Amino acid sequence: MLELKQLGKRYASGDLALDGVDLSVPSGQVMALIGPSGAGKSTLIRCINRLVEPTSGTVRLDGQELSQLRGRQLRLARRNIGMIFQSYALVERLSVMENVLSGRLGYLGFWRSLLRRFQSGDVTRACELLDRVGLLDAIDKRADELSGGQKQRVGIARALMQQPKLLLVDEPTASLDPKTSRQIMRLLVELCREQNLAVIINIHDVSLARQYVDRMVGLSDGRVVFDGNPQGLNESTLTRIYGEEDWSDEAGNDDEAGAGSGQPDPIGTIARGAHP
Ligand code: ADP
Repeated sequence: MLELKQLGKRYASGDLALDGVDLSVPSGQVMALIGPSGAGKSTLIRCINRLVEPTSGTVRLDGQELSQLRGRQLRLARRNIGMIFQSYALVERLSVMENVLSGRLGYLGFWRSLLRRFQSGDVTRACELLDRVGLLDAIDKRADELSGGQKQRVGIARALMQQPKLLLVDEPTASLDPKTSRQIMRLLVELCREQNLAVIINIHDVSLARQYVDRMVGLSDGRVVFDGNPQGLNESTLTRIYGEEDWSDEAGNDDEAGAGSGQPDPIGTIARGAHP
């Protein structure tokens, strides 16, 4: 379980990127983080793995407070947090297998990691994951020979190689065509459910996200302004997150379905105290 309490970040420039975010993501839940550019999505993800230092609040993963950790303790804690990037962040000249195995580097001691001496179980697990993401045939290919979708599959396998408790995913489909985007989202969500991970996906494509995730959280000006299931996103909540626009396409038919299905009022899921 990931628990953020009153998480805040003010950059040295004076920009308030996060303004007291309270959020819990249980194991096994896939959550999409949506919101306009500048809302604080990247900052939130980076404060969790401490690529950015929060200025206030706490970050706990399975009860362990992460925001004060330093040095070795921080390195150990980061093994529990996998990352998947829009730009894949693969080592292009290395093979698919080597890229996936690099997900284990955090578990090797200094010399073993320098010499890339992986344990035998690591190779077996890498093969299993590559099979699961449909890339067993490409095991020896160099990363720079792969398509975008294949690269993202390698990125997913590498992150899972780490055996994380939490997966942070930054715009996983932004560089992919619509069909590949759907395949990648489906694979990602299936694998995370199988492995009972808590997952936060920073994603711009609201329609794509709502087809696959369990929960959507909308950020605006560094605050949570929507927190609910995908069916709860209607024109009113989208306006709250992104501002005035004709949202009838994005809101789709779910608007009526939500209202008529006896489900709780989606507006009621909007965080208390956010945006007067
Ligand atoms: P998003 O990912 O939703 O687009 P960001 O987290 O990148 O939002 O940005 C949130 C706010 O923080 C914006 O006002 C942005 O200008 C500011 N910001 C982001 N990164 C930095 C930085 N390194 N230095 C100063 N301000 C930053």
